[in-house]
Amino acid sequence: MFKCPNVFPQHHNPLVSYPKTELSETVSSSTNKKMGRSLLSHFLNLSNACPRFTSYGNSSKLQRTLPMIHQNHLPLVGVNSNHRCYCSVSAPEPTVSESSSTSIKRRIVSGVQPTGSIHLGNYLGAIKNWVSLQDTYETLFFIVDLHAITLPYDVQQLSKATRDTAALYLACGVDTSKASVFVQSHVRAHVELMWLLGSATPIGWLNRMIQFKEKSRKAGDENVGVALLTYPVLMASDILLYQSDLVPVGEDQKQHLELTRELAERVNHLYGGRKWKKLGGRGGLIFKVPEPLIPPAGARVMSLTDGLSKMSKSATSDLSRINLLDSKDAIANKIKRCKTDSFPGLEFDNPDRPECNNLLSIYQIITNKTKEEVAQECQSMNWGTFKPVLTDALIDHLQPIQARYEEIMSDTGYLDQVLAEGASKAADIADVTVSNVYQAMGFLKRR
Ligand code: ATP
Ligand code: MG
Repeated sequence: MFKCPNVFPQHHNPLVSYPKTELSETVSSSTNKKMGRSLLSHFLNLSNACPRFTSYGNSSKLQRTLPMIHQNHLPLVGVNSNHRCYCSVSAPEPTVSESSSTSIKRRIVSGVQPTGSIHLGNYLGAIKNWVSLQDTYETLFFIVDLHAITLPYDVQQLSKATRDTAALYLACGVDTSKASVFVQSHVRAHVELMWLLGSATPIGWLNRMIQFKEKSRKAGDENVGVALLTYPVLMASDILLYQSDLVPVGEDQKQHLELTRELAERVNHLYGGRKWKKLGGRGGLIFKVPEPLIPPAGARVMSLTDGLSKMSKSATSDLSRINLLDSKDAIANKIKRCKTDSFPGLEFDNPDRPECNNLLSIYQIITNKTKEEVAQECQSMNWGTFKPVLTDALIDHLQPIQARYEEIMSDTGYLDQVLAEGASKAADIADVTVSNVYQAMGFLKRR
């Protein structure tokens, strides 16, 4: 089985600066048509990705080029600088020479679960990055409501949380003239493909998922729903349905993306290529094998009550997170009560001061300052001085988002229309993939 352990950097504490990604690419029109073998010539390259020589499909024909690295100085918690994943792209060399060429955009998909209030971690680790990605890539951002039911959930709240999440995507700057925004359950192909993929997923792969182990232990093992175990297959379906080139992933999702890649390879091998052609199909790869795109900044925002745990929607205490829709008073109260330490001054990168590191990093990102500027500004501050400064910066940053959110929510028809259009565009792509999979797996075609 294909293994590429270095694709995903090891978890490690210190903050490191992280290179920004940049993309500009041109590929030949026929390269585009011959999706499969030929598309591989313009895959994203990771400097630390091991070469892939696998028996599955044609991915050993991947033509990798060296990444162009653009430094910025935004912090990333949880990534070892020795294992940095330089998700950057160089202009690709077409595999076949063509006279005419057209510009195509790589496709990115991503989503947030409507499991509660969107918090600063979701925003800085995911949504804020989408806003810059949508200019360069073809983007599909969805609200992953089917994932929200993997653990016990509030039935009365699900649809409200789904709408709120969609409205917050837009309020944070996701632009529907560039990105498709939709609700996962509105595109039936997600569940359909999940079932088909499930038959090709060895149970051992799912059993070894860390999130499953952790969450099932917390939820009382035997009583957890099967969906918690099979959730990564749904995530694979979410990604593979859209033939995504890249998937922005936070620390918490890396193992699931690795499984997606392995599953794509496996299905391509089991059902793709000549076998598919014999059944009247196109042949070649059924799925693109997606690459991880580690967010350039703010990759891991930690809890306000424990600098070693990530900020999370499902954490029991609301004091552990800043929700994007928190009032000024709530923000002030949370920052006032957040965990600190008794060291003199404030500093980045001291492993004994995870809370200090986290709060300075949040401050740095939301003020758009450099790490050096923040280090200098805050080095002789104490918590009593810094906390009001951070509170004001948070309020200033979130206020325009909250105002836009209110505006969007006040026009119900608008949001519904956005979601309907998004679902329709997404279904156009997804349905083609599902039909291909049915065909390649030998199902009788519906007439
Ligand atoms: P839950 O606790 O229900 O799992 P969550 O807060 O982890 O919720 P998700 O919906 O699982 O949020 O994740 C949505 C996106 O936000 C993912 O891309 C994930 O990597 C990112 N994300 C979640 N928490 C953080 C965090 N603390 N810092 C940075 N990114 C985060
Ligand atoms: Mg999560």
